[in-house]
Amino acid sequence: MLKPIKRLGQNFLQDPNTIRKIVDAITPAAEDAVVEIGPGTGALTGLLSQRYHRFSAIEIDPRAAELLRETLPGVDIIEGDVLDVSWADLATRLEAPRLCVIGNLPYYITSQILFSLLDAAPLISEVVIMMQYEVAARLIASPRTKEYGILSVAVQLSATPKLLFPVSRNVFYPRPDVRSAVVRLSFPEKLEEHGGVDPKFLRRLVRMAFNQRRKTLRNSLSALTAELGVALPENVTSRRAEELAPEDFVDLAVYLLRTA
Ligand code: SAM
Repeated sequence: MLKPIKRLGQNFLQDPNTIRKIVDAITPAAEDAVVEIGPGTGALTGLLSQRYHRFSAIEIDPRAAELLRETLPGVDIIEGDVLDVSWADLATRLEAPRLCVIGNLPYYITSQILFSLLDAAPLISEVVIMMQYEVAARLIASPRTKEYGILSVAVQLSATPKLLFPVSRNVFYPRPDVRSAVVRLSFPEKLEEHGGVDPKFLRRLVRMAFNQRRKTLRNSLSALTAELGVALPENVTSRRAEELAPEDFVDLAVYLLRTA
């Protein structure tokens, strides 16, 4: 056992039933490769590498990477930061059209990992990840709830999220301060084109709207509408970000760009 490093989000899974439940939750297609984020001491990695031959695991802690190379010889361990990984290069190297990604995430970078996967959506078939329970609740949140925000819209525009099960704090060492849950994101084979809108513009719009979520969109988007030289459509001006469904943001982006 390695001495856990808190700043790397190291909370190692100890319970074989939980481990099996997480590994059983992925449903990769035959041609998919499987990639694990943050294998740590290998709680999930042993089972995963037995089941899937096109498999890689990305781990930042050199002590863990070395341990895995000893305990699981022949398994592809990429030593480095998951946020530096090119999913396209990895898919090419694993000779897979799409990747199925799994992991008990380092919670301190959950959102960044999610956005990196969403940016690579055409290359991703499915994601099964453990995260802080409150973040999981945000991914599946509906409009007009306090959990609904940037992450909900971003995720729901590219994938179908499902909260699979909560996980007790007692199955980790060390026991984390927060509650956890496992989530599955299923990506469609053919991605939504979102009216041809540049995804960066769409994300910027969503961010601006939610950054001042208590304000009406007329106010929260005033800098953007001024920059584009357009007015918001009538039916949107007095609404707030949390009242718009993910598709409404797409419609709004299309309108703004067409009218500009
Ligand atoms: N999979 C193991 C388990 O379930 O017991 C470990 C999970 S632990 C919550 C998160 C793992 O992610 C740790 O092994 C940590 O070193 C690794 N990690 C942290 N930051 C990382 C990063 N930026 N890139 C890759 N791995 C990272």
